[in-house]
Amino acid sequence: MASEYHYDLVVVGGGPAGSSAAFEASKNGIKVALIEKEEIIAQSVRTSGVTWIQNIKEFGIPDDCYNPIKNYSFCSPNNEVTISDTVSHAAVLDVRKTYRWLAEQAKNEGVDIFLKTSIKNAIKNKEGDIIGVSGTSKDGEIIFYAKIIIDATGFSSTISKDMGFVTQWERFGAGAEYEVSAENVDSETWWLMVGQKYSPSGYAWIFPVGRNIVRIGVGIGKPESSIDPTERLKELMDSKIGPIKKLGKITPIEFHYGLIPNDGLSRKTVYNNLILVGDSAGQANPLVLEGIRYAIKYGRVAGKVAATAIKSGITNESALYPYEETWKKEIQGKIKSAGKVQDRWIGLTDEEWDKELEIIKELRPEEFLDFIKAEFGLANMIKLATHHPKLAVRQLFNLVKSKNKGIT
Ligand SMILES: Cc1cc2nc3c(=O)[nH]c(=O)nc-3n(C[C@H](O)[C@H](O)[C@H](O)COP(=O)(O)OP(=O)(O)OC[C@H]3O[C@@H](n4cnc5c(N)ncnc54)[C@H](O)[C@@H]3O)c2cc1C
Repeated sequence: MASEYHYDLVVVGGGPAGSSAAFEASKNGIKVALIEKEEIIAQSVRTSGVTWIQNIKEFGIPDDCYNPIKNYSFCSPNNEVTISDTVSHAAVLDVRKTYRWLAEQAKNEGVDIFLKTSIKNAIKNKEGDIIGVSGTSKDGEIIFYAKIIIDATGFSSTISKDMGFVTQWERFGAGAEYEVSAENVDSETWWLMVGQKYSPSGYAWIFPVGRNIVRIGVGIGKPESSIDPTERLKELMDSKIGPIKKLGKITPIEFHYGLIPNDGLSRKTVYNNLILVGDSAGQANPLVLEGIRYAIKYGRVAGKVAATAIKSGITNESALYPYEETWKKEIQGKIKSAGKVQDRWIGLTDEEWDKELEIIKELRPEEFLDFIKAEFGLANMIKLATHHPKLAVRQLFNLVKSKNKGIT
């Protein structure tokens, strides 16, 4: 006999999107369950954890959850550039600490967290709308009924797939990473490594986590390349090319692997009684494939919209639309533009990458950060596209400007 639970809102997936949605919904006065298939929150790490200090502060994430970065180094086969800032604007998160803090915040707001509970199916009413989910827990079959379900299952989009609303992402990034201790670590400097030998359709990275620990990883764009990121990472670490050599002796601590959608914001994200958020909604910046800040931000928006709808007694698609309207207004144009730059980058040869670094060299730290974050403000883009002293820089920003009529 299956155990049966009834909630106002059920959030499936205890990643940053799910915990943030559950937190905000419960804060707004409804009864919420957060369901996670792993034994503890963030048991497996599937991300490198780079994000931005401004967002960290905005979310209230504690200072001991991240390592600040202020030097941004790039290398291509025959070029190298470091953009140095006076203060840190980027950060590498302690992923477990941060994700557990987010879930703890939800719990403190009254959310019931179900761990080791894997959801397999959506339950529909006779109109075909979702009214619950079912799966297995450590005690056997389990069923949750709710007025709204949030699909925060990440890349797998389990609920939306079972509803028949989405299919597997066609374009995505596959990433493999080792967290290692190293002999020589500059904890304020990250490295992005581009060109065929690092990744034929992506990039490799060194992200310092603090003390003598760094994450060395490789991301490969699929279906553009068939290379296995784990194999390529092993090759890079064995041959110690480029900045990996500077790390000296390396001792692996832990291996991470994950997939991230790269199909742009192509999905509809609200249906009757259902919201998709975070990776299940494709909310990722394609330039560096980062999605944590969007997962937290739009997780909170989803939670708030869900609570308002539930309290009003109407939970259909139109009642949930304010969530989709918010993210569309804020990031749709920017992500479209970032996709154009990504398309340009994916096609570059090694020689072209060497030249692209010459353009990046020309950017001031704040220009570089806006660019890499896909924070393409129209005024700023026009300024760079028309007034920058270097023609190549003007050309790069013209690409962003001309392809992006929707930016604000
Ligand atoms: C290699 C790699 C590196 C990355 N690096 C960065 C980076 O540096 N910075 C950045 O911002 N972003 C990065 N990302 C992207 C980032 O990790 C995601 O955008 C972010 O994790 C999305 O959060 P989410 O909550 O939507 O999904 P997830 O973090 O994937 O969380 C989903 C949760 O749902 C649970 N779950 C899944 N299915 C079920 C089910 N059926 N039942 C119950 N629970 C379920 C999972 O166990 C998981 O805990 C990277 C991604 C990869 C793959």
